[in-house]
Amino acid sequence: MKKLLEVKDLTVAFPTENGEKNAVSHISFDLNEKDFVGLVGESGSGKTVATQTILGIESSEALVKSGSCKLNGIEVLGLSDKEWSKYRARNIATVFQEPASALNPLIKVGKQIEEVLKIHYDFSREKREEIVLETMRKCGLKDVEKLYKKYPHELSGGMQQRIVIAMSLVANPNVLIADEPTTALDAKVQAQIIDLFKDISRIYKGAIVFISHDLNLIETISKKVMIMYAGRIVERGFTKEVISDPLHPYTKALLKAVPNYKKRGEALYNIRGHVKALKNRSNDGCPFYDRCDYAMDICKKVYPKDYNKDGHLVNCHLYGE
Ligand code: SF4
Repeated sequence: MKKLLEVKDLTVAFPTENGEKNAVSHISFDLNEKDFVGLVGESGSGKTVATQTILGIESSEALVKSGSCKLNGIEVLGLSDKEWSKYRARNIATVFQEPASALNPLIKVGKQIEEVLKIHYDFSREKREEIVLETMRKCGLKDVEKLYKKYPHELSGGMQQRIVIAMSLVANPNVLIADEPTTALDAKVQAQIIDLFKDISRIYKGAIVFISHDLNLIETISKKVMIMYAGRIVERGFTKEVISDPLHPYTKALLKAVPNYKKRGEALYNIRGHVKALKNRSNDGCPFYDRCDYAMDICKKVYPKDYNKDGHLVNCHLYGE
C-alpha cells in the first residue's frame, strides 16, 4: 500500500499565561491508500489543532515546536500560503462542520465546485463542468444540472454538506480530512451523510481521517481508530479491537461512559474531573494522570513509550517493562 501521509513527532504549542503549552504533543501516524481512520477525542484533545496544522491552516498563534509532516513524500510543514494554494486540494482536502460557512452565499454552488478544478487543473470549461456534475452525482445529489445553478441558501443543510464534500473530492485529493462533518446536521441527515462517507470509502483510493467525539459513530464508519487525549494519541488500532479490548484507562473509561458499550447491569460511568485547560497542563508526563484510577508516581513525570500488542498500540505505564 502506498504511503500518503507520514506525521512524525508533531508538537504544536500555544503561548499561555503559564508559558508555552502543548496542544498537540509528539504525535506520529501514517496513512496509506484506502485507510479510513477515526480520530476520536473530547473537545480540548487537540484533534482539530493537529489536523489544521497538517492542512497548513493552523492559527497564527500556533507554534510548531517539532515534527515532520510528509504528504506523498513532500514535507508540508512550513510551506508558504502561496505554495499551499497550489498544493492543497490535489493532495489534501477537508470537510468542515458547518456547510453554510464553508460556502460563498453569492456564488452558484456548481461554480464553487468548478473553481477548485480551475485552480488546480488545466481542463476546458466543458471538461470541468462534466467532472463537477459527475462528482455531485457521486455525492448522492440528484438533478445535478439544475442544482449546479442554485445558490447555497436555496439548498437544505444536508444538500449543502454534500456540495461541500463534492468541493473536497473534485480535485481527487490523496487525503481527505472530515472534521466532525455531521455535527451541524439533524439526526436524519447525519445518517445520510454517514452513508455517503461509507459509499465514498468504497470508491475512493485515498485515505480518510474522520474526526469525531462519538465512538459509536466511528465504530459504524471507520476500520481504524486513534484515541486522542489532551494533545496525545494514547491508543490506536483496528476499531473492532480497540472497542472490544481497550487497553488505555482513558479509552476504557470512555467506553464505560457510553450506553451502547457499558456492560449489562453496569451503571453509566462518569470520568472524574475534566480535561485540563491548556494553560494548566504540564508538557511532561501522562496527561490523564489526574483522572486515572491506576496512576503511579512515574506517570506524572514520564510519558509512556508505545506498547504494541499485535499492532494495537497504547501509551500507558501499565504495559511494557
Ligand atoms: Fe494512568 Fe499512568 Fe497509564 Fe497515564 S500512564 S493512563 S496515569 S496508568
